[in-house]
Amino acid sequence: LVSRDNHPERSTVTVRGVPIGPDTVTLIAGPCAVETPAQTLEAAKMAKAAGATLLRGGAFKPRTSPYAFQGLGEKGLRILADVREQTGLPIVTEVVDAHDVALVASYADMLQVGTRNAQNFALLQAVGAAGKPVMLKRGMTATIEEWLMAAEYIAQRGNLDIVLCERGIRTYETATRNTLDISAVPVVQRLSHLPVIIDPSHSGGRRDLVLPLTRAAIAVGADGVIIDVHPHPEQALCDGPQALVNGDLDELAMIMQEFPKLMSRT
Ligand code: PEP
Repeated sequence: LVSRDNHPERSTVTVRGVPIGPDTVTLIAGPCAVETPAQTLEAAKMAKAAGATLLRGGAFKPRTSPYAFQGLGEKGLRILADVREQTGLPIVTEVVDAHDVALVASYADMLQVGTRNAQNFALLQAVGAAGKPVMLKRGMTATIEEWLMAAEYIAQRGNLDIVLCERGIRTYETATRNTLDISAVPVVQRLSHLPVIIDPSHSGGRRDLVLPLTRAAIAVGADGVIIDVHPHPEQALCDGPQALVNGDLDELAMIMQEFPKLMSRT
């Protein structure tokens, strides 16, 4: 269902009126985690200033340590809905458990499945049946074939509104948190009609790499990028070191305006 063989045209997925697909490069930005109403609103304003048309923000956080901040749950979803109201930005947020899909879908405009759940087949089937567009991250140890098969689980439930997100894979390299597999973009675009975006924040894990990797993403033909921003990353409860700050926004805005033109994408 997700193969390009039977569907030669590349698809555009529309999230509450915002397109992600071959005719544009979409910026999704926002905090890694929803922490407070003020922090989320501030991050959403930063995202919008940089040209974002969709707001990201986790209310359910899949953390490596059970002692780390796990997210605000439904309270976080309510904050996101309020910020959508105030900024007009549709919401992309992660769901980590099949039992929460209906709840998260009642607030979200797009459901995110994270790297750690990329082969949680019960969750994939549940999001496939939820009636909302889905962003499927690549499993950190998943081959491209496994990633596309994971998308197939969603599609099989009647939902072809799937955006694939390359977010870095596990390699022996320790200088970056994960190794961004930039070649995955053209490889997947040849195999599948689904849009492919890049997460330069979770792949590098470092603020100083986010803008270079964003340029690379656009140059290689990605259909969008998803970027962490935070008004006070030193106080962030999750992934502060990779969040862009106010001082980075002009350059991000410039990249989002100028680079897609160079690629004839706008
Ligand atoms: C995220 O985007 O908030 C996230 C946890 O990403 P990943 O699943 O790629 O680690």
